[in-house]
Amino acid sequence: MSHVLAAVAWPYANGPRHIGHVSGFGVPSDVFSRYMRMAGHDVLMVSGTDEHGTPIQVQADAEGVTPRELADRYNRVIVEDLHGLGLSYDLFTRTTTRNHYAVVQELFEGLYRNGYIVPKTTMGAISPSTGRTLPDRYIEGTCPICGYTSARGDQCDNCGNQLDPIDLIDPKSKINGETPEFVETEHFFLDLPALADVLRQWLDTREGWRPNVLRFSKNLLDDLQPRAITRDLEWGVPIPLEGWRDRPDKRIYVWFDAVIGYLSASIEWARRSGDPEAWRRWWSTDGEGKDARAYYFMGKDNIVFHSVIWPALLAGYSGEGPRDGEPGELGRLNLPTEVVSSEYLTMEGRKFSSSRRVVIYVRDFLERYDADALRYFIAAAGPESNDTDFTWAEFLRRNNDELVAGWGNLVNRSISMAAKNFGAIPPVDPAGLTEADEALLATARAGFATVGDLIGRHRQKQAIGEAMRVVAEANRYLSEQAPWKLKDEADKPRMGTILHVALQVVSDANTLLTPFLPHSAQKVHELLGGTGVHAPMPSIVEVEDLDGGPSYPVLMGDYTQGARWESVPLEVGRPLAAPKPVFRKLDPSIVDEELARLAG
Ligand SMILES: [Zn+2]
Repeated sequence: MSHVLAAVAWPYANGPRHIGHVSGFGVPSDVFSRYMRMAGHDVLMVSGTDEHGTPIQVQADAEGVTPRELADRYNRVIVEDLHGLGLSYDLFTRTTTRNHYAVVQELFEGLYRNGYIVPKTTMGAISPSTGRTLPDRYIEGTCPICGYTSARGDQCDNCGNQLDPIDLIDPKSKINGETPEFVETEHFFLDLPALADVLRQWLDTREGWRPNVLRFSKNLLDDLQPRAITRDLEWGVPIPLEGWRDRPDKRIYVWFDAVIGYLSASIEWARRSGDPEAWRRWWSTDGEGKDARAYYFMGKDNIVFHSVIWPALLAGYSGEGPRDGEPGELGRLNLPTEVVSSEYLTMEGRKFSSSRRVVIYVRDFLERYDADALRYFIAAAGPESNDTDFTWAEFLRRNNDELVAGWGNLVNRSISMAAKNFGAIPPVDPAGLTEADEALLATARAGFATVGDLIGRHRQKQAIGEAMRVVAEANRYLSEQAPWKLKDEADKPRMGTILHVALQVVSDANTLLTPFLPHSAQKVHELLGGTGVHAPMPSIVEVEDLDGGPSYPVLMGDYTQGARWESVPLEVGRPLAAPKPVFRKLDPSIVDEELARLAG
């Protein structure tokens, strides 16, 4: 057993999640964590909503609410979306907790002490008519990189590049249209070039990464620049230095605070577990966490934060690098074992876009379809290593032809035949098993090694393909053995044997599919006469802020119960009832209905 951290990218709290958001890393990180727990590892799966920064402030201004009110609203919505999909977070929290503020400030101070955060004089905007600082979000102009005419002072939403207000061509104040003046102002920068050698040595020792992610990350090292970690903004974590702490107009930049969420959420989880030091088992390079493995899940637009910037923060805080620092009070911290990045999902050939309504939100999806139907599509056809298109026709086909006609049919016909003819799990005929029986059982047993290895290496598409191959073999076996033809009393022992074998393989295949399809796996477990928790589920819990802030909803759960990653022999004589269908066959008319909704 080992300690496995599953660190899942933090959704930005400015709206509900659409299925593109959860396809790349939400569901895959849950599949990985569920499998790892079933295989006996001690998993800590953490994330939360990312709630600071200019976009939330701008949207709140537009709605006439405070940024905190906006973040409260979408934190709750996102918690519900992820809960609906059954994502088994040990803790899904948020970045506006006091615990998070304290951890972010501790990292800032440690990096500052070790010489990796340095002040730099830059040009900041002021309003010529009032003489006051003009926050970045109130400055708009043309992006110097892509030419987009509505780029903001801190970022271009068209090309995604980080900007400074002075970079903008023809900058204008959004408040009154005047041209801002630029005066000298001080900000803090992360000295990334100083950590380039540490990062290069670390990246050179990484194994098993997707080659494009590793190549991309190494290329970034050739052109590292100091990166601003404070902004002219009121909404964010205060800068924890004398003379800065109480300034209302300067805050830590959102990217710096959000990426520290993995650590602060782990610490919050430990504090809530009753053992405040327990997070060290996943994080401390010295001592009990030294063999822990840390897997980070994100979309490809986020690789730089996880393969360069976050490792730089961890290394600098831990006292590594050329400046001979000391670790801060949290001690030396583990760098990522692997950065697992996914590609993009498009919808009917177009980019997801809430504003252009090319979108289906998770909540709307779950109102009309089952969570496992979406989870199946994502695992079998998601954007694991290529950009992938979601189409309703393909969703319908995968659901009806594979999930319902393949797996659902195997479950249904084997259990109903056994229930009708035996009322229980039938015994194996003393005459023994045939070669075909043995071969099918062996195929199912072999699946545990194959499917497990593939999930462990983040090849979930192949993994679910292997599990469904076991299902297909079992369906073929039933068709060939045709137990329904064995109607004579004398043939009944052989019929029982066939059904026993089929049900054993249903049980094994169900375990193989549990990480992917946890909701239906619980149902199949019960149809086979099983009791208790087979696939544990997260709960939404309203918690108090540990340090006196307002209460908020989190996702958490007890995942110590549940199936192990192994074949469990079925208990002969365990009563069986006629099954209810586990999956819903969808009417082909849903394709036109959904396309009409998309067209608006
Ligand atoms: Zn641009």
